[in-house]
Amino acid sequence: SKQRGRHGYTLFNQELRRDQADQLALEAELRHALTNDYELVPYYQAIVDSQTGRLAGFETLVRWHHPQRGMIPPSVFMPMAEESGLILKLDRYMIERACAQLAAWYAEGQLSNEVCLHINLSSTHFHDRTLLDWLLPLLRQYGLPAGTLHLEVTESALIDVPDLAISVMKQLKEEGVCLALDDFGTGYSALSYLHRFQFDVLKIDQSFVREVHCQEESAAIVRAILALAAALGLEVVAEGVETPAQVQALRELGCTRLQGYYFARPVPAASLEWERLNGIVP
Ligand code: C2E
Ligand code: CA
Ligand code: CA
Ligand code: CA
Repeated sequence: SKQRGRHGYTLFNQELRRDQADQLALEAELRHALTNDYELVPYYQAIVDSQTGRLAGFETLVRWHHPQRGMIPPSVFMPMAEESGLILKLDRYMIERACAQLAAWYAEGQLSNEVCLHINLSSTHFHDRTLLDWLLPLLRQYGLPAGTLHLEVTESALIDVPDLAISVMKQLKEEGVCLALDDFGTGYSALSYLHRFQFDVLKIDQSFVREVHCQEESAAIVRAILALAAALGLEVVAEGVETPAQVQALRELGCTRLQGYYFARPVPAASLEWERLNGIVP
């Protein structure tokens, strides 16, 4: 453990400075990564229909293949990307890559129209209307079927600028974009927001899924979320499903969409196993 007192303080300052220098270096490197098309790679994780076991969609998750540092997970660079504002460029890059990929899959006859693509969107996008200026032309450019794109936002997106967020989201919905509320149950959970923001999908956080098969409280929470969603006409996706027991419990509770390592890990497009995905038997 660290020495306290004068030396401890000096040590702490040195560490802090090094951390800050690290963060600045990482920020410059992310800025650079955004100018090429090989460092930041969209990975795709299957979302599965719990009854048929068939592919229902994908969630796109960014991976940074850093030329010197190796693979850097989002947990390491997302905070810096948010703080520096680079997240705006990163999300746009990911959405452009994913839409191009989706269009290619359709062209290859790989996908049916019911398969949707989930993309994470930082709350930063709701501080102005810029998102609409590039996203709507992009959707038209690729001519993707309405409703295939699901934007995943967390509740924090809605708290800072609720009125602006409502109007941006309303316009997205008019263009056929679907909205998913990510990590449901872990934030402020102002239930009135569900109604005001016109979500299409709720994503149940892994923290409720982990013990859904063995702990009555978790099962009760999932049951309540499913009842709420049914009453509001929302689709539900359970995240972080890892075991057959969880699959069984979620299916019995009536959750229609499942996502997690049990079915598939996030992988680059070239590594998707289409035969298996189209015939997954849970
Ligand atoms: P999230 O949106 O809640 O994504 C789910 C996370 O759970 C992902 O972590 C995924 O790889 C992981 N996961 C999926 N199935 C399982 C499972 O069965 N067990 C466990 N333990 N984990 C599972 P990942 O890829 O590290 O991403 C972390 C977070 O970073 C995401 O959480 C999301 O908030 C953010 N993120 C990732 N890509 C993007 C992006 O392109 N844009 C934005 N704005 N945020 C992103
Ligand atoms: Ca997500
Ligand atoms: Ca989530
Ligand atoms: Ca999360």
